[in-house]
Amino acid sequence: QLKQMLTKFMRADYNWPQASSAERFTLEEVLQGIRANQFEPFFQPKVEFKTGQIVGAEALARWIHPEQGVISPYGFIPLLEQSGEIDKLTFLILEKSVAACRSFHDRGCIFSISINLSPNSLDDTTLADKITQVVRNAGIDPRYIILEITESAAMTDVAHALENLVRLGMNGFILSIDDYGTGYSSMQQLTRIAFSELKIDQSFVKDFADNEALRIMVKSSIDMAHELQIKIVAEGVETQQEWDLLKNMGCDMAQGYLIAKPMNLISFVEFCMGYRLRM
Ligand code: C2E
Ligand code: MG
Ligand code: MG
Ligand code: MG
Repeated sequence: QLKQMLTKFMRADYNWPQASSAERFTLEEVLQGIRANQFEPFFQPKVEFKTGQIVGAEALARWIHPEQGVISPYGFIPLLEQSGEIDKLTFLILEKSVAACRSFHDRGCIFSISINLSPNSLDDTTLADKITQVVRNAGIDPRYIILEITESAAMTDVAHALENLVRLGMNGFILSIDDYGTGYSSMQQLTRIAFSELKIDQSFVKDFADNEALRIMVKSSIDMAHELQIKIVAEGVETQQEWDLLKNMGCDMAQGYLIAKPMNLISFVEFCMGYRLRM
């Protein structure tokens, strides 16, 4: 039973859910889709509890497949990671996201955009410079770009990963720990790199309304983050009850279906225009 409970908190990075047969692709098909420009970021808003305002959005990769419709990351990211081709997607998503960010800023909407970095990408010591170049070319200040790193990625003692993260931090990017609570030695990690945001994994928020142990863990994480001057985001907020509990616990931001699902750029802009402060 304990094992069952623990596996619930394990990071799914290298143990992604099996894609349905309709969604099983070959690497060549995925690369072909990238060449055909069929990938784009969807955006999911991040809302601040205190003000109810949208403060940013996470860019989440989608494959708009001509026959099979919108394909989730589980259908292509594992293939790209295993084959060492993930950077093609990383930079495609980064470029489209900073372009979107630019157009938001031009319209007076000062949002941050969050980008997911794959653990594998951090092995390449030129990554930090390449990312910085793309963002500067778009005329965006790196402090509006949040780079999300899953704990497992940040965990490895690989010098290259640390070097990249330190350099990205020095270049002004905001570093965020994704899926917090599902990895290991997370505490130590917080002491080595200047992370400014922590995203508590949705497995903690799911069912936490009627699970006291989960609520205690979430509350402790919020308090710890605040002691370290780190902002904390709750992922997977689906109900008003979860919103209210997190708000009372002092959580900084929420992301989840209660606010909105990830949307394509046009729907995201429409959503923002019709958005009314959530309290
Ligand atoms: P993540 O970074 O932890 O992103 C959050 C995931 O939770 C997203 O799944 C989002 O759609 C989902 N989500 C948000 N709110 C809710 C909710 O209220 N309920 C539920 N059940 N789910 C919610 P998605 O878009 O399928 O992405 C899955 C993972 O794929 C991401 O997890 C991230 O690790 C990875 N990923 C997505 N885009 C990229 C990318 O461009 N590059 C890399 N390297 N990884 C990516
Ligand atoms: Mg993320
Ligand atoms: Mg993640
Ligand atoms: Mg996450």
